[in-house]
Amino acid sequence: MDLSIVVPLYNEEESIPELYQWIDRVMKENNFTYEVIFVNDGSTDRSWEIIERLKDNNSNIKGIKFRRNYGKSPALFCGFEQAEGDVVITMDADMQDSPDEIPGLYQMITSEGYDMVSGWKKKRYDPLSKTLPTKLFNATARRVSGIKNLHDFNCGLKAYRKDVVKNIEVYGEMHRYIPYLAKNAGFNRIGEKIVQHQARKFGTTKFGGWNRFFNGYLDLLSLWFLSRFGIKPMHFFGLLGSLMFIFGFIAVIIVGATKLYNMYNGMPYRLVTDSPYFYLSLTAMIIGTQLFLTGFIGELIARNSTERNNYQIEKVI
Ligand code: UDP
Ligand code: MG
Repeated sequence: MDLSIVVPLYNEEESIPELYQWIDRVMKENNFTYEVIFVNDGSTDRSWEIIERLKDNNSNIKGIKFRRNYGKSPALFCGFEQAEGDVVITMDADMQDSPDEIPGLYQMITSEGYDMVSGWKKKRYDPLSKTLPTKLFNATARRVSGIKNLHDFNCGLKAYRKDVVKNIEVYGEMHRYIPYLAKNAGFNRIGEKIVQHQARKFGTTKFGGWNRFFNGYLDLLSLWFLSRFGIKPMHFFGLLGSLMFIFGFIAVIIVGATKLYNMYNGMPYRLVTDSPYFYLSLTAMIIGTQLFLTGFIGELIARNSTERNNYQIEKVI
């Protein structure tokens, strides 16, 4: 099978039949063998009935139905598990992404050797309240992830070599950072293709508001931390803790020594506990010890984690 097209959806009843017809037309024009995997993320409208009806007449449709709404990332994860095509495409169900882009994306994966290609909605048809935060967000994501050639991390339209989707774990709200996840799993050839974007035809956006902003950044922070220190937490906490402790220890010796020196030389001196520096060094030593212990506990957890030896093995012969 050439292509698996994974479509996560949450309350998109109006769009589904039209989207499927459009995909089907493009696939037939290009003689692709394909499947469309609709992942119904706990829709409360008639989306699932519509998918079931479509499936009756078209054997190349698969459907996954969540009992409740989990989010776009879990939907993608389960779609990826089912995907059988050599190239896996993800696209939103709201028809903001155009199926006409699929042949071009497929080409980039199969002939130009990319592991994954991300769409770039260079001209976007969304309100400013969405496009402005997105700019900021993309700039940060580029810096933190080190993937400098991507303008649009969160574009719903992406193409992957099958290996990629089988070896990454998209959870929480990590769908925004799939290129980063892919890079951390060792898939380095990440490209970009400018794609058409339409205004939403039916329904409303499912990602509004400020939550998106804060959660997005917190997720990026977690990913950065996990990829750098996930299996060696001591390297982070141990270093910080040791520095803190040494700083406190030296400071307290200076405070004590100054007092003794002044005392023996008959100069005026004050009690160690009267010096503000004493409290600073005390705090530094306590925090240092705690950071260090956090590192040890982190190591103990990492050691027991089922993921500890979960290395990305590309091939076994
Ligand atoms: N979506 C989903 N689960 C959710 C929220 C959204 O599966 O909890 C789907 C949604 O149906 C759409 C895609 O994710 O197919 C992108 O959502 P949306 O178009 O609302 O986001 P926007 O384009 O406004 O960023
Ligand atoms: Mg949309």
